Amino acid sequence: MTIPNTIFPPARVYAVEITGAELVTPRMRRIHLAGPDLVGFAAIPGQDVVVHLRTPTGPAHRRYTIRNLDATSGSLDLDVVLHGHGPGARWAEAAQPGERLEIFGPRGKVPLAPAARQVFVGDESAIPAIAEMAAALPPSTEITAIIEIADAAERQPLPPAVDVRWLVRDGGEPGTAELLAPALDELALPDADRHLYVFAESRVVRALRDLLLAKGVGPAEISAKGYWNKGRAMRG
Ligand SMILES: Cc1cc2nc3c(=O)[nH]c(=O)nc-3n(C[C@H](O)[C@H](O)[C@H](O)COP(=O)(O)OP(=O)(O)OC[C@H]3O[C@@H](n4cnc5c(N)ncnc54)[C@H](O)[C@@H]3O)c2cc1C
Repeated sequence: MTIPNTIFPPARVYAVEITGAELVTPRMRRIHLAGPDLVGFAAIPGQDVVVHLRTPTGPAHRRYTIRNLDATSGSLDLDVVLHGHGPGARWAEAAQPGERLEIFGPRGKVPLAPAARQVFVGDESAIPAIAEMAAALPPSTEITAIIEIADAAERQPLPPAVDVRWLVRDGGEPGTAELLAPALDELALPDADRHLYVFAESRVVRALRDLLLAKGVGPAEISAKGYWNKGRAMRG
């Protein structure tokens, strides 16, 4: 199986400008970034950038997955969950064309695995990574995504090869394993040639990883990363 480049490109600060922004869904806003500094920018699918934010109380740094990278023209998109709290969500809600900012990247150390069966599990914050990574997998890969969202309006297009199972909170609180754990537990997996990625709230990620280990999935068959902390701001 051929997997795209897994050499992590070097990271540095890039000066960029917001060239546009629009809602992808009612709770996710896409921010278009561009600038000559981004020409030649290299990243592997699912890597992210740290956005340097200025807030009334000082600088803050938040990580967002790189989407739709065009290294020739020097542009990329960030899809940000508008969850209503914190400097990252506030920035994305108010972001306007013309704003200049600095990003640092690429960050992230989760490469695609060479397995015939691949499963992505996560919440809204993981949709950008799931979309980018799934799109880069060889066409012969059997791909399932189990994604928790606030409501049905948060569904968004993913690569056609992905069998997507949307789990809708419908008023339930984000950052619990209540929907994801049973869905993952029920999923039939082959005994080998498989890989699972878990990107969600940190404690949820730990619970889902433990569930997979208890099901006999090996640590090397799991890529798990906490994307946010429930009730607590990210450091930075
Ligand atoms: C490698 C990586 C890639 C990421 N990619 C993306 C991405 O592409 N898009 C994206 O939107 N996020 C992404 N995230 C998650 C994002 O960095 C965090 O959600 C971050 O906490 C947002 O900062 P904030 O300032 O909005 O909230 P914070 O200041 O960190 O937190 C403020 C409050 O909001 C709550 N909160 C934070 N995030 C969420 C959430 N998603 N849902 C509900 N409540 C939340 C916290 O529990 C806290 O109570 C990624 C994280 C990592 C580590």
